[in-house]
Amino acid sequence: MYSKELFNSAAQQLCDVGRFLFSRGWSPATSSNYSARLDTQHIAITSSGKAKGELSLADIMVVDLQGEALADHSHKKPSAETLLHTLLYQRDAKIGGVLHTHSVNATVLSRLYAKQGFIQLEDYELLKALRGISTHETQQALPIFPNTQDIAALSVQVNQYLAENAAIHGYLIEGHGLYTWGESVAEARRHIEACEFLFECEVLSLQLRR
Ligand SMILES: [Zn+2]
Repeated sequence: MYSKELFNSAAQQLCDVGRFLFSRGWSPATSSNYSARLDTQHIAITSSGKAKGELSLADIMVVDLQGEALADHSHKKPSAETLLHTLLYQRDAKIGGVLHTHSVNATVLSRLYAKQGFIQLEDYELLKALRGISTHETQQALPIFPNTQDIAALSVQVNQYLAENAAIHGYLIEGHGLYTWGESVAEARRHIEACEFLFECEVLSLQLRR
């Protein structure tokens, strides 16, 4: 069983982060999904199809690390992309929060660099907002996976990639959006803000170069 107290505070955090991400235009319509670890076996996650700027505690549910709803939450429908969250919690016991957004810049860049398979971010001061990076003199290649409705297959692909590239902080899905994570929901939110800042720099640079 999970702690109801932990669930309430994690669910509140996810509602708050939803309001923030929606207000920035990064979680439009009912897109995106967010989760927070409760313990070694359970996470709180947004249920499917909710407006992310208007989340309430009733829109958050508990699933186990196989993505199955707990009995007292079985009347709610987990996000279609739940397996992309649980794979991260299974891989790394230190991960405390996973956030997925659908911003314009992430969508545009993921299409533009889809053939290359990654987007290279280098020499930006704001890379230091990513965990473990202490200098701008660094490079981060964010992989881009083809979009699919077969989330189980995508989760296998992401898992294989992470087995060889454990140091990355996130990835893109083509024409779809960004996944990032951190030791807490707050750290995952910082990673989104940093990535979105860098995506905007990349888009603007491409525009000015024309
Ligand atoms: Zn999505």
